[in-house]
Amino acid sequence: MADTERSIFSRIIAGEIPADVVFDSDRLIAFRDIAPKARLHLLVVPKTEEYRDVAELAAGDPGLLAELVATAKHLAEEHSDGDFRLIFNTGAGAGQTVFHVHAHVLSDNGGESLREGSLAEL
Ligand code: AMP
Repeated sequence: MADTERSIFSRIIAGEIPADVVFDSDRLIAFRDIAPKARLHLLVVPKTEEYRDVAELAAGDPGLLAELVATAKHLAEEHSDGDFRLIFNTGAGAGQTVFHVHAHVLSDNGGESLREGSLAEL
């Protein structure tokens, strides 16, 4: 695949771009978002390039989607108080900028920011 067709997340998975990686398995990687919107803001990303968004992932590999959600829960417990918001921006009109399926995991360790924050800014 030409470099221009590969997502920035594929380049992180390949080790070509540095990232603050907190989880790495056969099928998933998780790292800190470069522009965090909460005290904990992770991205959980399937390693496959096959799915552009969560709707495609749910239709194509529901088991991998379930694994992603379980990983988000585990990471929120490990890095925060276990409560978390899971966001999948789906489509440019909804704010998606990277078309390689990923979940935003937001947690504020019992603080106020998630309750008061806007969803529109992600
Ligand atoms: P979305 O807008 O839902 O497609 O989310 C893409 C996210 O990727 C944004 O929150 C960006 O801040 C984040 N992002 C972009 N480049 C990087 C990078 N090199 N390392 C970590 N996060 C990134």
